[in-house]
Amino acid sequence: MSTVSGIGVDSHRFAADRPLILGGVTIPHERGLAGHSDADVLTHAIIDALLGAAGLGDIGQHFPDTDERWAGADSLALLAHVLGLLAERGATVVHVDATVMLERPKLAPHREAIRARLATALSLPPESVNVKATTGEGMGFVGRGEGVAAMAVATLRRSAS
Ligand code: MG
Repeated sequence: MSTVSGIGVDSHRFAADRPLILGGVTIPHERGLAGHSDADVLTHAIIDALLGAAGLGDIGQHFPDTDERWAGADSLALLAHVLGLLAERGATVVHVDATVMLERPKLAPHREAIRARLATALSLPPESVNVKATTGEGMGFVGRGEGVAAMAVATLRRSAS
């Protein structure tokens, strides 16, 4: 038995008339994120971390934005699909740590809800899923409020083969 880790990074641009969905939770805000799917930047970073740990490439290979099947897709459904790929390979998620980078809105009031939602989606206890938030201190695209970025690290346990 061994553990492996993967990293995931994603960013999406703010747009009018879109919901702001982070970790499967809709956050009240005057703008949301643009994207082919529901643009859940946090879940996308986690998916890429899981794919990375499993050596399965990246989210764009599995869910191309040219594929109409994923238009408006619930990113938690994409996550469930990826968890199926991991299970087929005898890999179990043991821990996920993530950071959301955004200037506004404040994530603190929603952090526990996001954590609980992701923990359920990942079949992990909440203490094995950590969600952090930071601002861009006014710098760069995050600091100017142009979009949101997210980073994640996932740890998997693989059964020895
Ligand atoms: Mg994305």
